[in-house]
Order: sequence, then structure tokens, then C-alpha cells
Amino acid sequence: AGMASQYLEIRDLTVSFGGFKANSGVDMTLLQGDLRFLIGPNGAGKTTLVDAITGLVPATGSVNKSGVELLGKKSHQIARLGVGRTFQTASVFENLSVLQNLDIAAGAGRSVMSLLRWRKAVPEQVEEALETIGLTALRDKQAGSLPHGQKQWLEIGMLLVQDADVLLLDEPVAGMSHDEREETGQLLRRVGAERTVVVVEHDMDFMRAFATSVTVLAGGRVLAEGSVAEVQADPRVQEVYLGT
Ligand code: ADP
Repeated sequence: AGMASQYLEIRDLTVSFGGFKANSGVDMTLLQGDLRFLIGPNGAGKTTLVDAITGLVPATGSVNKSGVELLGKKSHQIARLGVGRTFQTASVFENLSVLQNLDIAAGAGRSVMSLLRWRKAVPEQVEEALETIGLTALRDKQAGSLPHGQKQWLEIGMLLVQDADVLLLDEPVAGMSHDEREETGQLLRRVGAERTVVVVEHDMDFMRAFATSVTVLAGGRVLAEGSVAEVQADPRVQEVYLGT
């Protein structure tokens, strides 16, 4: 890890769709080791915020990653700068093995020269990722035959081998069994220890069990931020959730 523990500094982020502001003046600071849950009622602007950070929708303001401005860059450039993202439906190569999926992800976006330079480091990184996502024993299994939970883990592994140190995950435990949720939480703890993980989530039990901090969005703005206990005790947060 470098000297900067501040991974992502979001300032005055605003996203307009025509006259409508889906995000408005959002400030958020993410540190190394954060397992930050991003919650809020439907339409609060959670997905839009993740879209703006990853370059999928235009935004004004600033998203600074360790000194580099991300706003205005294309999504593949942002990915290469270490900001990785998953969607609700896992997008893995169904016909390829777990290992092949990781190999392809590890090579994606690298130049031939850097691949040559990294020809030793990449396989090591793939082994490490297999370990982290708990799929070492299933490395040769066809990705399409994995249960939903393990596909999500593979997708996280694909971000790890791309050197993502900011991971933005959209409802990673949706559709998972209780045991899969528990394992996913442990996985996110391992991944988040040296990185920053942002989880967009509706599952409050999952949030209580694993969040190190919480940001509550409502109406496109940050309504509250803090520990699980602080956010739960906030009357403004209770009001928003009782109102839905
Ligand atoms: P959340 O993820 O919190 O449910 P979204 O970020 O998906 O909220 O949406 C925030 C608001 O922005 C909603 O009112 C939604 O209808 C609106 N919105 C999202 N995407 C677009 C778009 N491409 N064009 C117009 N309005 C949009």
C-alpha cells in the first residue's frame, strides 16, 4: 500500500438528467479498509452515484482517487485506474472455467509489454484471487455451472486480478442463501481490509453484520453518514425508511 490511505474523495458530485438532479452536491470520503454500505430508498440516487464514479454517466464536481481526477475519463480508463464495479447480474464468461475467467480478466486492459513484464506476477495474482474468493478447488469448473453466489465471487475475483483497489458492488447478496450471504460478508472483509469496498444494498441485516460505515442517500443527497449505530439512531434516517 502507498502512503495515502485516502482512496476516493468525492466532492459536490452532481448528476443531472435534463432538469432533474439524480445526485446533488454529494460529498463522500472513502478510506483504505472501508467496507462502506450505501443505502437509501428506491430512487435515492445510489446507482447513479456508482455510474458517475465509474464514468457511465456525466457528472460535475470531483471524484479524486489518490490525486487523480476521475470525472471526465472514460469508463475503461477509470477501470484501469483501479476502480472496479459489479452489476446485479454477474457477467462472467459462462462457457469458460473459473481459472480462464480470471486469466482473461487479468490480461484485459494490459498492454502486450506489460503482460510480458508481468508474465510471472499475473499467475501469482490469479492464485491469490482464487484463494481470496474461495474458489481454488473449483478452478477448473465451468463458470456457467456455478451457483449464483459463487458467480458473484468470481466476478469480484475478476476485479481483484485487474488490480482494483476500489470495488463498487451492486447488491452483491441479492438472491443468495443465508450461508452464501455470510460467506460473502467474510469475503468482503478480506477484500476490504487493504482496499475500499462500497456496497449498494437493501439487505439491512447484511449491512448490520458487515458494514464498517454507512452512507445514507435520499433524494440524491447524503442524508446521513457514520457507523451502523449512528445511522440507525438518526431520526432523519428513520423518517426516510418509515416513509417508504
Ligand atoms: P437508486 O439506485 O437509489 O434506486 P437511481 O440512481 O437508480 O436510484 O435513480 C435516481 C433517480 O434518477 C430516480 O428518480 C431515477 O428515475 C432517475 N434516473 C436514473 N437514471 C436516469 C436516466 N438515465 N434518465 C432519467 N432519470 C434517471
